[in-house]
Amino acid sequence: MPIATINPATGELLKNFEPHSDAEIAAKLDLAQQAFEHYRQTSFSERSRWLDKAADILEQKKADLAKLMTLEMGKTYKSAIAEVEKCAWVCRYYAEHAAQFLADTYVETDATKSFVKYQPLGIILAVMPWNFPFWQVFRFAAPALMAGNVGLLKHASNVPQCALAIEEIIQKAGFPTGVFQTLLIPGAKVGDLMSDDRIKAATLTGSEPAGISLAVASAKQIKKTVLELGGSDPFIVLESADLQAAVAVATTARMLNNGQSCIAAKRFILQEAIADQFEKLLLEKYQALKVGDPMQPDTDIGPLATPDILQDLELQVQTCVKAGAKVLIGGQPLADRPGNFFPPTMITDLSPDSAIAKEEFFGPVALLFRVPDIDEAIKLANATPFGLGASAWTTNSQEQQRFIDEIEAGAVFINGMVKSDPRIPFGGIKRSGYGRELGIQGIHEFVNIKTVWVK
Ligand code: NDP
Repeated sequence: MPIATINPATGELLKNFEPHSDAEIAAKLDLAQQAFEHYRQTSFSERSRWLDKAADILEQKKADLAKLMTLEMGKTYKSAIAEVEKCAWVCRYYAEHAAQFLADTYVETDATKSFVKYQPLGIILAVMPWNFPFWQVFRFAAPALMAGNVGLLKHASNVPQCALAIEEIIQKAGFPTGVFQTLLIPGAKVGDLMSDDRIKAATLTGSEPAGISLAVASAKQIKKTVLELGGSDPFIVLESADLQAAVAVATTARMLNNGQSCIAAKRFILQEAIADQFEKLLLEKYQALKVGDPMQPDTDIGPLATPDILQDLELQVQTCVKAGAKVLIGGQPLADRPGNFFPPTMITDLSPDSAIAKEEFFGPVALLFRVPDIDEAIKLANATPFGLGASAWTTNSQEQQRFIDEIEAGAVFINGMVKSDPRIPFGGIKRSGYGRELGIQGIHEFVNIKTVWVK
């Protein structure tokens, strides 16, 4: 994939970027290592000041930064504004709490004094996707930099201007030169990078093949990784649920970011008793959604990020139909315009046992399934290779407890939509990956948890 800005709403190539040469990559690595030697000595209060300043810059420049995101990957401008604001939040959150999260923790043992100390590791490589081009990076960078690490960003090739803008924000915030740098390189270069001794660990958000490739390269060097991969989150609605609330949230939970979110609700598992009504109400909501220019304030769904994502989605819908499913609305790319537009799509009557039912749909396509009771709901919810998030709707506290206990996922949200929040950990199990971002757990991923024992 070329490193370039291509407007997904028009297909127009706006700017091409030369990948960094081997010499440029080597120079950036040298600079990152030099930066680490002194950055690790800086105090939490200095780092907090810089991170708060980064939050200020994000807030001041949010209109321009949001425009850049919309231009490069097609999310609606209003959602891009919200994304920049959330990045400012994660910066302020770790600026305030990192010192406490990383304070020495004393433990009583047979020693005179024993405690746990948290020290930075060094250079951390972040391989990031295009779907939340700012948020994915800041939720890595805020804790990593507060912990005293330095970051190298390999961003997705279709969002190079976002990648460069993030580097500039962190530099302008006052962080020492070299503490956070962007590498304009293809994914194929990442394996070689991991064999450089100075890179101590890596985090990747993206597809399974990319995650496997990074994990294998890292394993060969015994380096830690955090992986945030795909998901096919269930959204379960039982008979006792507040149906109106569930339908309203179901629409957002599936359509957020034009449907391109790892934690989007992708499989709607409905108890028979309310299934007809839920389906009807959801269909009405989908019919009312406006697909169009992502810059316009009344647009709900913009284009998909790339022609490949569009083609993959179209093929998946065709595969559902071949497997006997019905398409209630949408189902085909919008041929009346340029760009990667795919309308809200709803699919029913798909056998949950078909291979396609177990895939991730990265776009505005909802799969609806019916189940007789909670036992079958939980069974179906767990019947995918993924385990990222789950949303379950019921007012019955015993049913709520069963979902909390029995759903196989990194997060369970009861009567709400799965979302990331700086204060609570985020991550998956099974083929959705491992490790956690955000919260106290997120900042502990890339530190040396050193045991100290003094007689
Ligand atoms: P990728 O996984 O290919 O891209 C994510 C990041 O990984 C990009 O920076 C990419 O770089 C990089 N990358 C790609 N291949 C490798 C590799 N072999 N080694 C190291 N890094 C690599 O995702 P796509 O954009 O191709 O999207 C495909 C699917 O992935 C989606 O349909 C969705 O299912 C899933 N996905 C999940 C996301 C999530 O939030 N969990 C986010 C995005 C995608 P480059 O752009 O240069 O190829």
